[in-house]
Amino acid sequence: MAVEKHKPSTPALTEWEYAPAPEAREIVTLEKRYGLFVGGKFVAPKSKEWQTTISPATEEKLAEVAYAGEADVTGAVVAARSAFENGWSGLAPAERAKYLFRIARLIQERARELAVLESLDGGKPIRESRDVDVPLAAAHFFYYAGWADKLEYAFPNRRSRPLGVAGQIIPWNFPLLMLAWKIAPALAAGNTVVLKPAETTPLTALLFADICRQAELPPGVVNIVTGDGRAGAALVKHPDVDKIAFTGSTGVGKAIQRELAGTDTRLTLELGGKAANIVFDDCALDQAVEGIVNGIYFNQGHVCCAGSRLLVQESIYEQTVAKLKRRLETLRLGDPLDKNTDIGAINSKLQLDRITELVQSGKDEGAEIFQPACRLPEKGYWFAPTVFTNVAQSYRIAQEEIFGPVLSVLTFRTPEEAIEKANNTAYGLSAGVWTEKGSRILWMAERLRAGVVWANTFNRFDPASPFGGYKESGFGREGGRHGLEPYLRFDA
Ligand code: NAP
Ligand code: MG
Repeated sequence: MAVEKHKPSTPALTEWEYAPAPEAREIVTLEKRYGLFVGGKFVAPKSKEWQTTISPATEEKLAEVAYAGEADVTGAVVAARSAFENGWSGLAPAERAKYLFRIARLIQERARELAVLESLDGGKPIRESRDVDVPLAAAHFFYYAGWADKLEYAFPNRRSRPLGVAGQIIPWNFPLLMLAWKIAPALAAGNTVVLKPAETTPLTALLFADICRQAELPPGVVNIVTGDGRAGAALVKHPDVDKIAFTGSTGVGKAIQRELAGTDTRLTLELGGKAANIVFDDCALDQAVEGIVNGIYFNQGHVCCAGSRLLVQESIYEQTVAKLKRRLETLRLGDPLDKNTDIGAINSKLQLDRITELVQSGKDEGAEIFQPACRLPEKGYWFAPTVFTNVAQSYRIAQEEIFGPVLSVLTFRTPEEAIEKANNTAYGLSAGVWTEKGSRILWMAERLRAGVVWANTFNRFDPASPFGGYKESGFGREGGRHGLEPYLRFDA
């Protein structure tokens, strides 16, 4: 029987639009004002300073948040010291673990609330906050809860003690997840903490404060001081802080290192990156293209370990770039609370200006720019996903961290050349390798000066796996057994 071909009476649609699928924001109840979380209570700042945090997608004002001054930071350190001396450091490790397990479960219970709030305050797609940030934050607490009463197995034949009060300063790109990376190992090791969230994204840290109350964590074990860089600087300078853990820009990291030089305050720094994602001609190219996209456009490229330099083997250059451009056309940019959104808002006006300036430098220096056709919303801060080709290694877009959805494409011929180009940066946080050959993966991993090397994948995280940098990407490791060490003192 002949197959009768169906002839549509109307021409086929050339564009398929998705219906809006917004996550309900009613799950979040915002206070008008949030004080500092000190000694288990929300308190008004002695500084009497308040600032508004906004949604970068709409510029809508969300809430007023206290800005801590020096006296407020001191108050938080005093509360943390007192909690350390009067109970927390002497608590049986298995009891400590119970609090961490409780916090982990509460993060899971309140996951939707946390995810919506994270996307509102920071602009990241709900798909990412819901499926990556919040589950990983819970996983970190579960993981370190497990270590709390097993430190003698984590470090056999070494007697360890907590350091005391840890001052922790985090950036705005993964607000809740960076909080978890910092607070979970610190508490598991028996320390108390004072945490300074980033200025533009304080709200999930304040919801976390409420989770600490719900978990009946003893007052003062976790203190949250919101504010700007001044609060961070005051925490770094405070003489009664035993350890500073900082995640942020290399510039501020260097300033902190200078400030602490000659003191006995412990320090770990997780700083910037300019990772190479290296694609060999024998790789599964469609998967690699997905990995390239995930490597640089995940979280609008606001990722310290983003694969922001694509190194493609010359023989497959044209094919790879064509596939990549085609894939970019399908990325959906817009409302972070929409479940179909791939690319959300840029975190702040300041960051948008930085990205815009660096992209302009790329054009001025002679690189060729590609952006898919996409309509940017009128309000808020947005940047279209961008690919630069014809990039020389000396261009600023190949050297400096853009921290936005901007990829620079370079080429190589041999594995040796790939290594040389990949390592030609002041940073050393991460790298990716795409090839079918296991031996080549090992050969490359041995030579790449990067804290993490992903093979045939990118931007994968697990609490059991240590993360951290070389060179100007900082020092110290977070995650895994290694992540406990910076929070412990070992007896000789
Ligand atoms: P940033 O300016 O260094 O800020 C990071 C944190 O430090 C914020 O809480 C900030 O407060 C605070 N701060 C600012 N000045 C300070 C000072 N003088 N003393 C103490 N604290 C101070 O970095 P950013 O531009 O917000 O964040 C992006 C950078 O973070 C990128 O370079 C990225 O690579 C890096 N990062 C690294 C990792 C990693 O694990 N390696 C992870 C995420 C991000 P304010 O928010 O009020 O300015
Ligand atoms: Mg905000």
